Amino acid sequence: MITASPHFAQPARWQQLWREAISDPHELLKMLGLSHLQQTLLSTPTNQFPLRVPRGFVARMRYGDATDPLLLQVLPQAAELLELPGFTRDAVGDLASRSAHGLLHKYQGRALLIATGSCAIHCRYCFRQHFPYAEETAAANRWHEAVEHLRADDSISEVLLSGGDPLSLATPKLAESTAALATIPHIRRLRIHTRLPIVLPERVDAELLSWLTRLHVQCVIVLHANHANEIDESVAAACARLRDAGVTLLNQSVLLRGINDSADALAALSERLIECGVLPYYLHQLDRVFGTAHFEVDDVRALAIIDELRVRLSGYLVPKLVREVASAPYKLPLHDSRI
Ligand SMILES: *Cc1c(COP(=O)(O)O)cnc(C)c1O
Ligand code: SF4
Repeated sequence: MITASPHFAQPARWQQLWREAISDPHELLKMLGLSHLQQTLLSTPTNQFPLRVPRGFVARMRYGDATDPLLLQVLPQAAELLELPGFTRDAVGDLASRSAHGLLHKYQGRALLIATGSCAIHCRYCFRQHFPYAEETAAANRWHEAVEHLRADDSISEVLLSGGDPLSLATPKLAESTAALATIPHIRRLRIHTRLPIVLPERVDAELLSWLTRLHVQCVIVLHANHANEIDESVAAACARLRDAGVTLLNQSVLLRGINDSADALAALSERLIECGVLPYYLHQLDRVFGTAHFEVDDVRALAIIDELRVRLSGYLVPKLVREVASAPYKLPLHDSRI
């Protein structure tokens, strides 16, 4: 994964905050009063997926709590080095479904563009941490090729921007890249998969909102929050700004052991999301990617948690529990064995 921050002529406030993100695990532990945990850290200097976490996100972590659900999402731990059977480097078959550089056309009707490899935060469970972004980034001059593929296939009505985090591109670059989509009549929706409004809500600035408001197609943003504590007032305000710009907001989460693997945690997340006008969409079973085994929750427990959520919450607040299977035509729902 590319970890350098984007280049900006005149950095906006969010770009400044991006640059000030914490990248030293020792500094992070010290800020949280947890320096005694240093020996559990991952200590490989050649690690290609280093710590990265914006200071505003760190501020939402609990001081002195080694089990904080936000901290555990970003702290590089020695457990990542465990070689376990079944955990590979391309667990979701991305490499097989590539149809033009940076374009993944795996499902009918929608195609996903890898807009950039950069992220404001590095999530330790991320299935894309081993993806060869350097070659596969649509923004890196291969955009034209991807757009021509979209133009030629009128079965595609929705374009997904993903990554990495597509909102890590500066807004003028986003606008420039998506302008070509306006010339393709069969593209009716733009969907953006992003964690930035959660981890760096300052990204939702006037410039971004102005671009979103002027889009010629309907826009859906799929946020990515895993725990209610991630959504403080600044995130709630960012969601309100996005909704005011006419954007439909959904959220996807990953089910993570020790972080959100309880009905209490997920119910609190759904309640917090709907307060912000965001509907829960997917709850993903972890992709079995090398270095993430310590986050895995088994299917029986996952289904039991969802069952409890169904009892406790309005139906629309229960996310769909799914797993991505390389050859499947959609993200497969996990089924209750009683049906
Ligand atoms: C997840 C994904 C999509 C979107 O799937 P939905 O079920 O529509 O959310 C599209 N393309 C790829 C390659 C994906 O991984
Ligand atoms: S989960 Fe999303 S934001 Fe986190 S590292 Fe992966 S792509 Fe980036």
